[in-house]
Amino acid sequence: MIPYGKQDINQQDIDAVIDVLKSDFLTQGPQVPAFEQAMQKQCNAKHAIAVNSATSALHIACLALGVSKGDLVWTTPISFVASANCALYCGASVDFVDIDAVTYNLCSAKLEEKLIYAKANNLQLPKVLILVHLSGEPCEMLEISKLAKEYHFSIIEDASHAIGSEYKGNKIGSCQFSNITVFSFHPVKIITAGEGGVATTNDVELADKMLLFRGHGITRDTQQMVGESHGDWYYQQITLGYNYRMTELQAALGLSQLNRLEAFVERRNVIAEYYDQELQNLPIHLPTQKSEHKSSRHLYIIRLELQKISHSHKGVFNAIREKGVGVNLHYIPIHLQPYYQGLGFKEGDFPTAEKYYREAISIPLYPQMSEMQLDEVCAVLRIVLV
Ligand SMILES: *Cc1c(COP(=O)(O)O)cnc(C)c1O
Repeated sequence: MIPYGKQDINQQDIDAVIDVLKSDFLTQGPQVPAFEQAMQKQCNAKHAIAVNSATSALHIACLALGVSKGDLVWTTPISFVASANCALYCGASVDFVDIDAVTYNLCSAKLEEKLIYAKANNLQLPKVLILVHLSGEPCEMLEISKLAKEYHFSIIEDASHAIGSEYKGNKIGSCQFSNITVFSFHPVKIITAGEGGVATTNDVELADKMLLFRGHGITRDTQQMVGESHGDWYYQQITLGYNYRMTELQAALGLSQLNRLEAFVERRNVIAEYYDQELQNLPIHLPTQKSEHKSSRHLYIIRLELQKISHSHKGVFNAIREKGVGVNLHYIPIHLQPYYQGLGFKEGDFPTAEKYYREAISIPLYPQMSEMQLDEVCAVLRIVLV
């Protein structure tokens, strides 16, 4: 089976991890700060905080922005559940803004409509908006950040798909149009640390808060302490935090992988362009990429024109898998998950996302794909999509 995604680990990556195993530190050594510095540089951001997953990064990002009980967080229904769960961890409520039918990202026009409606009807406005750059295609940050100023909400970019992407010449992660950006280093993402995440920000206060939440709410900085330090052994817990630390092994792998980010993104773009060419005449919508942006091309999502195809969506999906091509579906709309239905969401709430879900399929895309595998994927699609 050709998988839909796969990590690319070379000898340098392996050596980097082995070196850590032979060193004095498996955690809290020099690799995590080195990885954080490299991420700052990569993203052009003032601060980078490494944690054990993007989910943890989303959680501490929400906490740092003050999300708590009684607050409202808005996000997109087409993402992994973590993009919404992080608000619930903080005791806040979640609502969704429907997607754009072309980019599948949260739609800025629908966001504006929903904000206008909420304001006019004296409904609660969001404290934080969590955006997802689906498959690496940047959201409409300029439009959305204008709305953030007007309606006084903060922005977290969930850039789990988008390390290496650029929005109007700005690196994703530079937080030019947001408060915090979050990345994932799960093996299926652009670069991996095994598991891991990073939050970037240009705001020193947010960075300090995220550092505290990452490490049990404990500080060794006398400036932050209540009263006097008792001595060199002393630390204080000044808030309730977590153990979200990244290990040295993960940071070394992440750092080594970061060296090849550019090559990975380039290769992903070559593969995506090949698909763009080869799949043109099939009864499917190909992904849209705006030329003014750069996409990391994390996913290649096709949408079936079901009225032109004899099989159902599920029939096409199963037939492709039966022929050895490991397709996937990103994502099941979050509001349709039983847990979220239990919170009161129902089918029909976000129709564009639901229509997308009935038609979307992610086809294999990862740097190591060979020409032969690419041709096989295209051949299988040509056979099945009739
Ligand atoms: C992978 C992913 C996450 C979660 O990342 P982890 O590092 O596995 O916690 C969150 N949001 C999106 C959009 C993702 O793709």
